[in-house]
Amino acid sequence: MPSFVYILLGSNQGNAVENLKNAASLIEEKLGNIVQFSSYYQTEAWGNTQQDPFVNQVILVQTNNSPLACLAINLAIEESMGRVRKEKWEPRVIDIDILYYNNELIELPELTVPHPHMANRRFTLIPLAEIAPNLIHPKLGLNSVELLKICPDTLEVEKMIVK
Ligand code: ATP
Ligand code: CA
Ligand code: CA
Repeated sequence: MPSFVYILLGSNQGNAVENLKNAASLIEEKLGNIVQFSSYYQTEAWGNTQQDPFVNQVILVQTNNSPLACLAINLAIEESMGRVRKEKWEPRVIDIDILYYNNELIELPELTVPHPHMANRRFTLIPLAEIAPNLIHPKLGLNSVELLKICPDTLEVEKMIVK
């Protein structure tokens, strides 16, 4: 039985939309079929307003990989695209976060699912609500639209027109 993984892609370095497209094709190649794509959304950099804005997108991937295998594949894709980790809030060419893996709750040292910060981030909930408005967060028991309504975050998130 394949599993369904919701993934948040983010970039704020170079051509961010191009970086998201490249990440998506590597995900298709290494992780599994992408069955849904949200629009691209632009957001002010979270935690550091001196940086370029972020572009974010949520995708739904059908995969035969375990959660930890998905994490390893995503980290390898980030690395192959030139991501270097130094400081917490530095600009990044690509960030690939697992939001949901089916409706599983995972709490391991290297992997927390659902993603621990997703309910506090409009840049995650807005693209998620576009493709999965009724999907229930397995820990909080609320769907994406309900989470968005109570989200305390005030950062501007704007849908991009991309050809
Ligand atoms: P944030 O958690 O605030 O989004 P970040 O994405 O900037 O932070 P990274 O430096 O990209 O953080 O990742 C650090 C580590 O987070 C990864 O190496 C991974 O082991 C761990 N991690 C834990 N849960 C998840 C998850 N759901 N998706 C992706 N990485 C996760
Ligand atoms: Ca992240
Ligand atoms: Ca990450």
